[in-house]
Amino acid sequence: MQSLGGLPGVKKIHRSHAIFSALGTFAAVATILACAPTPARAPSTADDAPGYDAADMLARAIRIATVNPPGDEAPLARLFVELLRDAGVEAELVETPAAGSRVGRAAAWGRLRGRGRRPAIVLLSHLDVVPANPQEWSVDPFAGERVGEYVVGRGAIDAKGVAVVHLLAVAELARRGVALDRDVIFLSTPDEELGGELGAGYLVRERKDLLRDAGYLLTEGGGVLVRDEGEATVWGVAITEKSPCWLRLESRGTPGHSSVPGRDAAVPRLIAALYRVQNQEAPVRVIPAVAAMFAALAPLAPEEDRPGFANLASSLELDPAFRARFLSNLQYAALVRNTVTPTVLEGSPRTNVVPAVATAQLDARLLPGESCTHYSDQLRTVLADPGITIERILHFSSESSSADTPLFRAIERVAARTDPESLVVPRVLAGFTDAHYFRAQGITAYGFVPRWYSVDDLRSVHGPDERVSVANLERGVATLIAILKELDRVEASETGGRGDGVDLHFSQAPGPVDR
Ligand SMILES: [Zn+2]
Repeated sequence: MQSLGGLPGVKKIHRSHAIFSALGTFAAVATILACAPTPARAPSTADDAPGYDAADMLARAIRIATVNPPGDEAPLARLFVELLRDAGVEAELVETPAAGSRVGRAAAWGRLRGRGRRPAIVLLSHLDVVPANPQEWSVDPFAGERVGEYVVGRGAIDAKGVAVVHLLAVAELARRGVALDRDVIFLSTPDEELGGELGAGYLVRERKDLLRDAGYLLTEGGGVLVRDEGEATVWGVAITEKSPCWLRLESRGTPGHSSVPGRDAAVPRLIAALYRVQNQEAPVRVIPAVAAMFAALAPLAPEEDRPGFANLASSLELDPAFRARFLSNLQYAALVRNTVTPTVLEGSPRTNVVPAVATAQLDARLLPGESCTHYSDQLRTVLADPGITIERILHFSSESSSADTPLFRAIERVAARTDPESLVVPRVLAGFTDAHYFRAQGITAYGFVPRWYSVDDLRSVHGPDERVSVANLERGVATLIAILKELDRVEASETGGRGDGVDLHFSQAPGPVDR
């Protein structure tokens, strides 16, 4: 999952605001653990208890270091393929471009056959993780330590824990010989943390056969937010995400001795340009998916904000007090504006040397429907310095999936059955996942992993002491199985039981909804 974006900025604000900000960024963070006590109620199919040991499997996965770069994901993919085969599931180790990896890169793929009546569903996770500095951790981040009821380690949440929940659900269905109306495809890919071009992007382009008949996909990006005792939990299901527009600025000037700095020195010119970028006021734009998200959240908003949440676009335009409150929250503001921030800076290697070149990298995140080309053209005006060049490092457009689908309704039904007070919310992510590669193929893709987390849990993603409770993992497996079964029931009831063995080639699945 890409970037925690501004979470640390969450100040001590009104409790429900904190929760909304978490919801706003959960997107940016992915799927999360539950420090909050996982309420005892689990889907009422007691025999969904997994045969495999979740804690052991996750610990083994964490011990296989897959920090990206270089990734080195092949050994972990091999482990998952073995576990799938041991459970009687057809599986394949899919080699992917090595790109500097010493031990090789690969994805793990498995397909649990169903009755072939309905579009297959993909359970997508990623194998790679971001770096971890042991000094900041209370345990070795790559030892897969068990601390009380938790498994602690890099990737416990993002996203090796996701892969374990997916794998255990598939293995459990196979172990019990459950034939669903559709195939379930397990897919765990490399390279997500660097944009997925060498992982999910590569597979969607080069190995379409792996995704035959796929019409649905579940991946990281959403989950169940546990709030204070007695308050409704929020099941956040991500239906779209902002897209990255990563740019590299290069400023050139006359090099020389810094005791007599020239007027066109590269570093000061770059700093001046970055200052202009930092101080531009990005226009507010409320896309339908964001309006729907906040309208769904309105019942949980502070009294004075409910009307504003319910009618976001007009309230931001016509109600200055609400607008000020809303935009003062970084996570909310990031969902109604393009954002940009300089992250990487390079200048002179020596204090007393004026360099010929200075560079900066910008992480811009665009609202769905915006193009990076158009954005960087606009930025050229803001930079107001023809001597600075702009190069695009990473960008892709983001599609949206509809919330009006049998899969969304299946999640709603399971939420209502296991958590009657809960609220299911279609969400927009400020960060991005690999879901966009699949949405671009017309697959309905949601960011949702049934795991329970509290606001405070978010901070461990890409941070120190990332951990997940074993109970949370096991409850996630049981809930995922319940959702897969419920999807069959929903589709059967909505199509009058007609399953007619639809042979959907994955590019023929219903197209993306709103652009
Ligand atoms: Zn992730």
